[in-house]
Amino acid sequence: MMPASASTPDWIKQALKERKSQDLYRSVRKIAGPQSTRVSQEGQPYLSFCSNDYLGLANHPDLKQAMADAALEMGVGSGASHLVCGHLDIHAALEKALAQWLGYDRVLLFSTGYMANLAVISALGSKDRPVIMDKLNHASLIDGAQLSGAPFRRYLHGDVQSAEKLMDRSDQAGILATDGVFSMDGDIAPLKLLAESAAARQWTLMVDDAHGLGCLGDDGRGALALAGLDASKVPLLMGTFGKAFGVAGAFVACSEDLAEYLTQFARPFIYTTAMSPAVAATVLKSLEVIRSEEGQARRRRLASNIELFRSRAADWPAQLMASNSAIQPIIVGSNGLALAISEQLKAKGILCTAIRPPTVPVNTARIRITLSAEHSHTDVIYLCDTLDRIFNDLGK
Ligand code: PMP
Repeated sequence: MMPASASTPDWIKQALKERKSQDLYRSVRKIAGPQSTRVSQEGQPYLSFCSNDYLGLANHPDLKQAMADAALEMGVGSGASHLVCGHLDIHAALEKALAQWLGYDRVLLFSTGYMANLAVISALGSKDRPVIMDKLNHASLIDGAQLSGAPFRRYLHGDVQSAEKLMDRSDQAGILATDGVFSMDGDIAPLKLLAESAAARQWTLMVDDAHGLGCLGDDGRGALALAGLDASKVPLLMGTFGKAFGVAGAFVACSEDLAEYLTQFARPFIYTTAMSPAVAATVLKSLEVIRSEEGQARRRRLASNIELFRSRAADWPAQLMASNSAIQPIIVGSNGLALAISEQLKAKGILCTAIRPPTVPVNTARIRITLSAEHSHTDVIYLCDTLDRIFNDLGK
């Protein structure tokens, strides 16, 4: 017999009740089978427009083979943190390949992007080194700033003058951080101008390109490459392996000195087990695919799906974002309406998440559509036809 759970304190029950009454309650969704544009939920098949598997690599045969081979050869666990004895040859090989791809001196690996951001910002920010970031940056950058104990301010989304105002009001130079592609809006930060402003003030710029790497720019090198930037202009670049790479984990690319500094002081790097060697080997294979002809063809297919979607969405009575990335949110405002549209899409066989506060600002609840190279034009047209009908019915 299962032991009975301890009784729940009233404040927890109350908090859950409040979440429900505000249409903000979240639940884990169980998906059967591999991640793909076709998934099954509770025995029903769906066309999915909600994963971040932008290039369709999560279920790629070569990557699956690489993981199986690596597990047989190197085992499944790294066994320790990087600084004890968990840093294996395969980690070093992956770090070297990433550093060479992106033109940075050094790369440090992390098990998740959340930890990478927490590590960098919490180690670099301090009471004497303020942190300034875009209002719509990912939660992990915000949490890193709070953990650092640094004076922390956020500037208006994508607004370079607002960032400059905050930097100029600070007595000391510090860390300026921005997402490359914003995860809930899909737009791209004004990276060139931010890099110039930061450099002119001796602030250190960090870019989180979780959603741009692999998808954008020459050789898939992301939002920096698209903006004509490199290691000489952006001292810290963070990227993740759970999105376009199709696997899991993350990295930070930087100078030799910064890598050494993070190795000494970044607690989320120091006190945690290194990523599995099988994962590291699979990410290395993924990088090979991303840089190959096949990777280029996948990026072209993704770009063509984005173009098709935007051309169809132009007539809808909902706000589209200025996004040319794989993230294409439709802002509908109220939490209830976003949930209702997501449910109506589901009834037509389409999975698409309703995103609500606190993930996005109040009154900007949205349907977050993510496109993949694996979607066919027919898939995108089906999504658009279905949304046409839903918006028509709502307008009646
Ligand atoms: N940064 C951004 C911009 C993200 O969207 C995410 C993931 N949603 C992360 C960091 C965290 O990455 P991970 O999922 O690897 O923890």
